[in-house]
Amino acid sequence: MGKNLPSDLGNTRLSIRNGNRRALAQAITLIESTRPDHRVEAEDLLGTLLKYTGESIRLGISGPPGVGKSTFIEALGSFLIDNGYKIAVLAIDPSSKKGHGSVLGDKTRMPRISNSEKAFIRPTPSSGSLGGVARRTREAMLLCEAAGHDVIMVETVGVGQSETAVKDMVDIFILLAQPASGDELQGIKKGIMEMADLLIVNRADGDLLAAASRTQADYHSALRLLGAPKNDWSTPVLKCSALYDEGIPAVWDEIEKYSSLAKNNGLFSQVRRDQAVAWMWSEIEGTLSEQFRSGKNIKNKIDEFEKDVANGILNPSAAAKSLVATFLSDN
Ligand code: GDP
Repeated sequence: MGKNLPSDLGNTRLSIRNGNRRALAQAITLIESTRPDHRVEAEDLLGTLLKYTGESIRLGISGPPGVGKSTFIEALGSFLIDNGYKIAVLAIDPSSKKGHGSVLGDKTRMPRISNSEKAFIRPTPSSGSLGGVARRTREAMLLCEAAGHDVIMVETVGVGQSETAVKDMVDIFILLAQPASGDELQGIKKGIMEMADLLIVNRADGDLLAAASRTQADYHSALRLLGAPKNDWSTPVLKCSALYDEGIPAVWDEIEKYSSLAKNNGLFSQVRRDQAVAWMWSEIEGTLSEQFRSGKNIKNKIDEFEKDVANGILNPSAAAKSLVATFLSDN
């Protein structure tokens, strides 16, 4: 067991339940560890805490770099803390490396909430595949719930595949946009707009206020063009100024409206059930794929076949079949 990791499962569990932030941080370090013995401990810990999870509202927050995600998380976080909630901020960004630009979920980006006892902020694990980072973030989310955090915000950058990973672990997916001209609206991919349960135009202040209102109307029509409401909910488009704390209570009102509607029409629990099953399958795929790639006999064969497939000498499906046969005969 590493020197910074909890050594006694029972004590760790109690400290987490008692809201000890240090114990929570150490437990997340444990689940992020790739050492097999840590993995076993992490699973034991999660197993004993599972019954205390599931009570929070899980929010996904996405948007392009610079749109104001961390400012928004601070504004919403402060509002929630003032209203008696405990919050947690996690992040998914497989591309982030310490020292290279902003790290999502970084405390220094959120000075207003980072010192509060009622906020727990955890930056993105600094490396790993999207699948790996997403697996650990899901588990961190459960630990935060066991520690009594009422609202979990999972932040991600609005580029690439990470939105889908976040959408698959939260109850409400919030997309942040900025004031733009009609042409620029095309910049947000249709697929991502369709994933949003709430769309917010940030920077609705000063010189940009009028543009923000136009953009709000443009997104409203764009969303209507995308189709009928899903599950009795048509994605609202709000505007706010995260920097000046304007429009934040209205955002929370919509989140509460959505969550009570989804709880009443059964969507909330259905989505969580589906997510849990999908999570099990992604664990299976992740574990198998790790074992596959690390098999002693297969490693060289993989390198060789990858080259041949890339050079068009070997048909990809024949290569896959042969590799799977080797893997199965080795295990
Ligand atoms: P992120 O990269 O999406 O997390 O964006 P940040 O939250 O770091 O914000 C990027 C810049 O935009 C910072 O300089 C913020 O002060 C500024 N900003 C964020 N929200 C607002 C807002 O509501 N209004 C204005 N005028 N500026 C904002």
